Amino acid sequence: MEIAANGAIAAAYFIIPLTLLPLLRTTQREVWLNLLLATMFIFSCGVGHTLSAMHLHSALWHWVTAGISWAAVVVLLSSQTRLRYLGETFSLLEATWEQALTGKMLCERLGDDLKVLKLNPAATEITQNLLRPGDRLCEKMPIHRQQVYPYEVPLIDLYFAALDSGEPNRLEYQYKGEISGWYMNLVAPLSPKLLFMTFTEVSGVIHDPLTGLYNRRVLEMELENWDICLFLDLDRFKLINDQRGHFLGDELLKAAAEVLQAHAQSYDGIAVRNGGDEFLLLLPAPDAASPEACPTPVAIAEDVLNDILDIEVEGATISVSIGVASGAIEAFQEDAPINRLLQAAETALREAKRNRRSNLPQHRIQVWNSALARRRLRQITLEAYLVQRSSELEFWLAYQPICCMQTGAIVGAEALIRWDSAQLGRVSPSEFIPVAEETGLVHRISDWVLCHALEQLAQWQEIAPQFNLSVNISPLELEDDDFLDRVMQRVVGAGIVSHHFGIEITERGIYNNLERYLQSLQELRDMSLRLKVDDFGMGQSGLAQLLQFRFDEVKVDRYFIPTNAQNLEKVAICRAIANLSEGIHFDLVAEGIEHTDQRDLMLGLNYNYGQGYLFSRPMTAQNLTALLQEGRELGVGG
Ligand code: C2E
Ligand code: MG
Ligand code: MG
Repeated sequence: MEIAANGAIAAAYFIIPLTLLPLLRTTQREVWLNLLLATMFIFSCGVGHTLSAMHLHSALWHWVTAGISWAAVVVLLSSQTRLRYLGETFSLLEATWEQALTGKMLCERLGDDLKVLKLNPAATEITQNLLRPGDRLCEKMPIHRQQVYPYEVPLIDLYFAALDSGEPNRLEYQYKGEISGWYMNLVAPLSPKLLFMTFTEVSGVIHDPLTGLYNRRVLEMELENWDICLFLDLDRFKLINDQRGHFLGDELLKAAAEVLQAHAQSYDGIAVRNGGDEFLLLLPAPDAASPEACPTPVAIAEDVLNDILDIEVEGATISVSIGVASGAIEAFQEDAPINRLLQAAETALREAKRNRRSNLPQHRIQVWNSALARRRLRQITLEAYLVQRSSELEFWLAYQPICCMQTGAIVGAEALIRWDSAQLGRVSPSEFIPVAEETGLVHRISDWVLCHALEQLAQWQEIAPQFNLSVNISPLELEDDDFLDRVMQRVVGAGIVSHHFGIEITERGIYNNLERYLQSLQELRDMSLRLKVDDFGMGQSGLAQLLQFRFDEVKVDRYFIPTNAQNLEKVAICRAIANLSEGIHFDLVAEGIEHTDQRDLMLGLNYNYGQGYLFSRPMTAQNLTALLQEGRELGVGG
């Protein structure tokens, strides 16, 4: 009996170290020595016990056991703090495991499936209670065996690939099945059989809640390098939103998104809401094997355009402008090809918006081409030089007289900026002002113009006290909070009579933010500056918007000035504006008068003032000073 009991004890002494040995392979460095000494201690106790059971008393073995025991005691005592720290780390890990917002799951490879070993509450929630420890993953969630967008292999294969390579991998995919949505999953193999995953649903992050399309963030993910990009912008959408309400606006956006989604699906591409009323359609390169089966990018754009023109919600329709780019784009310095493609398409879109010659649908589509590439390159060059502060040394102001058409007397002038660049030669303001507007440099330029024009006006007011000078202001300035302060400061500093100083503003863009403009205009009026509408007739806002605010002067664009009396339409327009001016009391200036018969015609239509080559081209300040001193009359007697 005693022998049997002794045998049982001895067996346990040997089995315990055997079970501990595999732990030694995987355990943390901090506990490894403790574990080793404990194993050795139990083992040597086993040997000691066996020897005494066999009545083979060995003093040597007792010393060995004693040595091991004391070594274990010393190591255990010295590692107390570390062990406690380890314990705390474990409870911390336990807590983060339990309370994590991301799903965490530990799986083991079993044949062609994964067995769930452990999963945290978040994982249970994300997988909607489908998984329990012990479950086979693909059995419970069979979609794992299918391809999920955007990958071309089943998810489970991606997991196995991570296990085989031993490398962690970040996966982002659309899972449609037992659960639906977009998920981000970090898979980290712990051993060739053990896979640890951290996953979370990202549907809301890369999807636009209103339309359900992707949002811009998807572009950062670079899921694929797309070959074709259609950049779309709904036309005058803000107007619809303002006039018919946001609810209808939203419905129209959703309808447009549906059209885009359908097209994206039929070409294996994606549709993205870029923000507001801007959308992107990104498509892969046509199948190299049968390119003729795939329509050209322009043909696709035309289809999209036609489908969008067909949209009707509560009687409201929309139209869209589309920029198209495809293939490799070289014009931009961006490193990622996808960003270059996007920029090219966006540039083409801006061109489509700018160039719309008519309401014909084909004028709403602009394809990125070499001319655009050249123009873009030119813009980049201009921008690079304009950015340098030294460009200000190359600016100067030309002044074009504004005359009383009856007498030819100079009543004022318009300051027009000139840029004689050392590197680029003379650059027209029509070319560089739009670039400056796009880059925000226009604020600096405007300030430069203000300072110099005011200084000049102060001098001219001494020669001709009634002389008016005006400067051109980009509509963007009126949205800039500092602008009004700057004008005030400059005008006061120059010591001029302020109602002889004019601000010319084009209607272009006014509608974008009408209230803001009206408020800024009112502040300019409060400074008793002279407010002028420039290039009247060329903008989109029309009379109604414009008349909400009383301007002092309207400059009718050269385009509307008839060349002769047979120009019936233009004559009618000019007459209508003249009639209006009598009712609302604003002065009229006819722009671009080049011939005497134009002048006479405009005089007949009750236009008193004119500006144009007939009177004078823009000139230097010095030349205009001379004319003022002589009291010369221009364009008369010709
Ligand atoms: P704008 O304000 O309408 O200026 C009139 C433009 O028409 C000037 O061109 C002028 O030289 C030109 N012009 C005047 N009379 C005639 C004519 O009889 N026939 C023809 N064919 N053209 C005539 P410019 O100086 O090239 O300026 C172009 C535009 O650039 C200006 O149009 C204005 O919008 C903008 N701009 C000029 N200077 C400035 C500035 O200092 N600031 C801002 N923001 N814009 C400026
Ligand atoms: Mg002007
Ligand atoms: Mg003008």
